[in-house]
Amino acid sequence: MEQLKFCPKCGKETLIWNNISKLSCSNCDFVMYQNVAAAVAVLIKHKESYLFTRRNKEPKKDFLDLSGGFTDPEESGEETCQRELKEELNLDVNIKLLQYLGSLPNTYLYKNINYNTLDLFYLYEIDDVNEFTLETEEISDIVWLSKDEIKLDDLAFESQRQFLKNYFKI
Ligand SMILES: [Zn+2]
Repeated sequence: MEQLKFCPKCGKETLIWNNISKLSCSNCDFVMYQNVAAAVAVLIKHKESYLFTRRNKEPKKDFLDLSGGFTDPEESGEETCQRELKEELNLDVNIKLLQYLGSLPNTYLYKNINYNTLDLFYLYEIDDVNEFTLETEEISDIVWLSKDEIKLDDLAFESQRQFLKNYFKI
């Protein structure tokens, strides 16, 4: 955000980034907040295995990820889980069966802008392992791992490493 110099309202080179969340102009009354974005991550469980996706795009291409994504405006966390799992895996989620597990902060660097997120973690157990249809632009593969097979270093994001470490006590 510090790359932004020109005020979008008055056009002068007087834009100030406060290094946290606020852009403001010293010449006019322009103020804009880059607030924390909500995102969801779903631990999909089948028997004693957990589903991880392999990222097919930056940031962190080829690292493992949990299915999920950013919350859209006017959407609940559970609705985000439902939409993202349908988009990414073609999985139909019954919202009532999602179990909320907790939240952790994360940062997501995309095209030189660092986004602060609050990741909401959910557990979703499935009885049948259907044929998943992958959204190949975002996911190259899916991997089922038991608790003991999870290697935290293979995970794309710090919040997920921290969450899995706490959740599985690994
Ligand atoms: Zn201005």
